This record gives sequence, structure tokens and C-alpha cells, in this order.
Amino acid sequence: MEESPSVRAEIVVDVAAIRHNVRRLGEVTGTPVMTVVKADGYGHGLLESARAAREGGAAWLGVATLDEALALRAGGDTGPLLCWLTVPSDDPGPALAAGVDVTAYTTEELDRIAAARVPGARVQLKVDTGLSRGGALPADWPALVERARRGQEAGELTVTGVWSHLARSDEPDEAANDEQQRVFDEALAVVEAAGLRPEVRHLANSAAALLRPQARYDLVRCGIASYGLDPAPGVTPPLGLRPAMTARASLALTKRVEAGASVSYGHTWTAERATTLGLVPVGYADGVPRIAGNRAEVWVAGARRPVRGRVCMDQLVVDLGDLGDLDEDLDDDLSAGAEAVLFGPGDRGEPTAQDWAEACETISYEIVSRIGGRMVRRHVDSDVHAPPDKPTSSQTEDPA
Ligand SMILES: *Cc1c(COP(=O)(O)O)cnc(C)c1O
Repeated sequence: MEESPSVRAEIVVDVAAIRHNVRRLGEVTGTPVMTVVKADGYGHGLLESARAAREGGAAWLGVATLDEALALRAGGDTGPLLCWLTVPSDDPGPALAAGVDVTAYTTEELDRIAAARVPGARVQLKVDTGLSRGGALPADWPALVERARRGQEAGELTVTGVWSHLARSDEPDEAANDEQQRVFDEALAVVEAAGLRPEVRHLANSAAALLRPQARYDLVRCGIASYGLDPAPGVTPPLGLRPAMTARASLALTKRVEAGASVSYGHTWTAERATTLGLVPVGYADGVPRIAGNRAEVWVAGARRPVRGRVCMDQLVVDLGDLGDLDEDLDDDLSAGAEAVLFGPGDRGEPTAQDWAEACETISYEIVSRIGGRMVRRHVDSDVHAPPDKPTSSQTEDPA
């Protein structure tokens, strides 16, 4: 990546990292992989992430909404694809007609799917094994399975999968995981007894795929690990997964302030001694959490620099340290235009999305899926080698 961004603020996604991570997840789990690309590929770009995932061997893609599934089809993806979140006003017809597997939680949803009259409609059934979110409760499961069986017999639909989702997969020793898996196995027995033979049974997200081999069944649904981020502390680094996203900006300004200067709204930080401040031109409107004020760090000129004061809508301030007289001593690395990396893979020592998550009392999922706003996102492919005299990455600008 170039030393200084040529734009105010950008998100750079290395699709080679996603491709590599998906391949590694397949190797490590020994199980077919569904790469979850919902929420614009966790902020990494829906179509670019999907393409990289397929290149890395993803047998399936997973999204939340029908719109996301249709966007993948419009973008040219033709492979197995599951979506799992519809509301009664949604028409499942176009997605079913496009060969998307639609998840049903209720008999009403199966009625709507049947009413769409799409030949070959593919449906997966979800059982709520204890997350108490989507899915049919075990008490309602036999009726759902029976409605699906009748639908399949009548040629209205085909039951292609049965699945559930864990609540505490990032805590593999919790008994709740065993209990959910026990309930899942009972639900599978009901399906079997009804004479249904779905193609895939699946339970595991990234954390369970890596930490709970017995939860892998026929397919593992990996989201966060595909982007190189840790689903649970310490799990992914030994596997060689690589964070794909870098968020960075050009410093808008640097300035010397005297001891006693207070920074940003509310004056929540005051310089104890003279220092140099750097103005980073991104803020909470760009998805930088406001709580990062006085907590997170930004990489500038070879060091992590603390965020001082509150994060504003468009900007935040970092402390570059006591650099002496700015006009004479400051070198280019620390002047306006210098690169300021909020987070990246960490190779150079810059903070990671995980570091930001910990500073902001959240999870890396929220950091990467919310960053954006007015930042320009572009994709590079570090697997594509430039001629030796011109070491640049191949780039594609996202359409506005
Ligand atoms: C988002 C999601 C996943 C992916 O979870 P990760 O922890 O990111 O691997 C898997 N399954 C379902 C149902 C999801 O909603």
C-alpha cells in the first residue's frame, strides 16, 4: 500500500486475504464452507467478498435478506446461496426463481413460499435450539416439518437444508453449546422420521467451526473469520488468517499546542505538556465509534498515537507527542497529508479492528461492518503481482 492516501479517507480491502482465509477455513475444518457475506460482506463489499470467497473454494454463500441474495445473483453469482431473514411483506418468489435457498421459520412462511408457485423452490428449515432469535421452537418443529413434507410431496418446494445457530459458540466450554446441539440432533431426527433427506445440516458459525468439531455437520457458516478477524480470543492467529480491511486517512492538519490546551467538544482531555496534535478527517458519521474518544489509537509515522478528546461527526484528534518546534523539526511523516491508519492487518504495528473493538467495548464485527460513511472503499488483490519495477496493487474503485 502506498505511503500516503491520495484521498481524504479510504477503506482498502485486500481480496487476496479473503480468498486465502476461506481456503484456510476449508482446510482447517475439513468441511464445506458457507461464506457469510451479509451486511455488504461485513463492510468489505458484497460482490467482491463473494467473488473472493468462491475463488477460495466457498461451496455456499450466506446472506440475511432477500435483497442481498438478489444482489448477488444480479452480480453474477450462480452458486448455492442461502438467506434467512424475511418479513411477511416480502415476496420470496424472485429469490426462489433465482435458485436461492430461502429459510422458513414458520408454517406461514411455507404457505407464502408455496403460494409463490416457483417450480423447484428450495427451502431450508431453521430450528431455534436456544438462541431464542429466529427459527421454530422445538414445540412447533414437528408441525413445521410436517407442512414442509406435505409441500415437498405436492411439488411446491424441496427441503434442501435444516439448520440452527448457537448463542455461545465463542465460549466453547459452556454447557449451552451441548444443550443446543442435543436439541438440534432431536430436530434432525424429526426430519428424518418424516422421510425428508435434506442436502445440508448446519449449526456452526466461525467460532464453532474452529472450536467445536462435533458441530460441523455438513457445512460451516463462516463470517468473521473469512475476513481474517477473530471469532473468539486467540483462535485465528495460529491459523494464519489475515485481516482483509485497512481503514486510513490523510492527516488534515498538525499543530503544536502548549501545556493546558484542551481538546475537542467538552474539553475531555487537556495536554499536560506541550505536544503536537494531528487532525484525522473521519468521525462518527464515517462509522468511527464516538466512544473511541480518549480510548483508541491511530497509527501515524511508525507509532500508535492516542485519540484525544471526543470523536466528532467528521473528525478526531490524535496526540503525536512532543515533537519540538513544528515548523522546523517536523518531517513529512508527521505533517498534513501523512498517512493515519485507524486499523489494518497489524503487520506494521498498526491497531487492528480487534484493538478498536476492545477500546470501544464492542466486537470487531461492529467495527468493520459500520466503518464507511464518506470513506472511499477500494479493493486490491495482493495475489496479483505487479512488475518488479512497479510495486503497486491492482485496484478497482467502487462505483460511487
Ligand atoms: C452472521 C451469521 C453467521 C456468521 O457468524 P460469524 O460469527 O461471523 O462466523 C452464521 N450464521 C448466521 C445465522 C448468521 O446470522
